[in-house]
Amino acid sequence: MTVSIWQQAHRTQETAYDVIVVGGGIVGCSTAYWLGRRAPSLNVGLLEARTLGAGASGRNAGFVLQGTHADYRTDMERYGAQTARRLWQFTRENRDLLSAELRGTAFSWRADGGLVAAGTEKEDKRLRASLPCLRTAGAPAVHLDAEETNNRIGATGFHGSLFMTTGALVNPLQLVHHIASESEAKVHTQHPVHRVHWRDAGAVLETPDRHFRAPRVVFALGPALSELVPEASALVRPVRAQMLATAPAHGRHIPVPVYSHRGGFYVRQQGDRRVLVGGGRHSHREAEETSTDATTPAVQATIERYLHTHFPWSQSLAIEHRWSGTMGFSPDGRPVVGRVPEHPEGVFATGFTGHGMGYGFRMGRLLADMACGDDTPEAFDLFAAARFEDAPDKRSGTATY
Ligand SMILES: Cc1cc2nc3c(=O)[nH]c(=O)nc-3n(C[C@H](O)[C@H](O)[C@H](O)COP(=O)(O)OP(=O)(O)OC[C@H]3O[C@@H](n4cnc5c(N)ncnc54)[C@H](O)[C@@H]3O)c2cc1C
Repeated sequence: MTVSIWQQAHRTQETAYDVIVVGGGIVGCSTAYWLGRRAPSLNVGLLEARTLGAGASGRNAGFVLQGTHADYRTDMERYGAQTARRLWQFTRENRDLLSAELRGTAFSWRADGGLVAAGTEKEDKRLRASLPCLRTAGAPAVHLDAEETNNRIGATGFHGSLFMTTGALVNPLQLVHHIASESEAKVHTQHPVHRVHWRDAGAVLETPDRHFRAPRVVFALGPALSELVPEASALVRPVRAQMLATAPAHGRHIPVPVYSHRGGFYVRQQGDRRVLVGGGRHSHREAEETSTDATTPAVQATIERYLHTHFPWSQSLAIEHRWSGTMGFSPDGRPVVGRVPEHPEGVFATGFTGHGMGYGFRMGRLLADMACGDDTPEAFDLFAAARFEDAPDKRSGTATY
């Protein structure tokens, strides 16, 4: 396509901000929000390629859970007791900030707790073993045996569960819009950033419509981070997740979100009684390592089988909606935060590994602190990209984040 001289002049006009956030998901919108809270005089712009919440943030199940995607004992084994506890505390803070800072009715906030249910006897054993460690970490949890678990959620076949009193649910798309509307940022949707030109004082960001300039830039691009920060290509990979929604299940009640089979499946019921279920990826790992937005018969069949097995009454319900979304997975399951190599005025966060609603709002505050010059804000070390610098699987070699 050719470009006229008038279009060229319009395109290269630079719109200037003090800070630009790129990406209008939960993390980008939260960063914009906290920049406004931290430094109200800052002129903040938010650039989103499509619409707010067009990515995973507007497509997820809306579970606001604490800890990582794995159970607490696994986190302790993988990261050590102290890091597991601090990760739990960070996500607890995320939940408490959502409740304290924002107007819950704007995003259907429900804070009735959540159930981490065991799909096998072995998983239940593991959950039970997690309990004392969780309590030591200050996590309010109780164990329910198989009968209590199944009775509570009208299910069958679960072997036990942990009831976490701090689990919560949101409408994720409403949440993203609410956070953006409560921020002081000027939001530019339909502005995909195609190129970043680093200058002496910050960056110029090229979109098809015009150029934007700022001394500081926050990249909150989820799985697309490496398109604008190629040095980060080894830090995140795209992974697809699929969900479905049934017709309303009148007379049935799943009172709290259920996360089961080590996070392999998740179920919730809406106010209108529709049942939303997702997961099944663990049985189709290779096919789901993709950023293609599509559902597949194989994964959808796995999700349906799970639903019909554990909630047999759902067999008579029509499936009314199916969808997918792309998540960013990090190499070790923990989010990754850093500065762009050679350009410390660029900050990024990615790799929420299927759990970004559990971190996102609090993470926005951490990124806002970094964009305001705080080199190592509280909890930064939990997520620092530098932990991969010596890792053998890190392809980009010498970059320092
Ligand atoms: C089906 C599904 C279910 C899930 N369930 C849960 C759950 O219940 N609880 C939970 O905690 N997590 C869940 N997740 C994961 C969660 O949705 C993600 O971890 C979280 O949304 C990541 O947020 P983000 O802001 O980092 O990324 P994204 O939401 O991906 O946002 C990135 C944004 O950047 C924009 N962008 C990309 N490139 C450019 C560019 N060049 N220029 C401008 N903008 C650009 C994209 O359009 C997008 O809007 C689920 C995910 C899926 C897909």
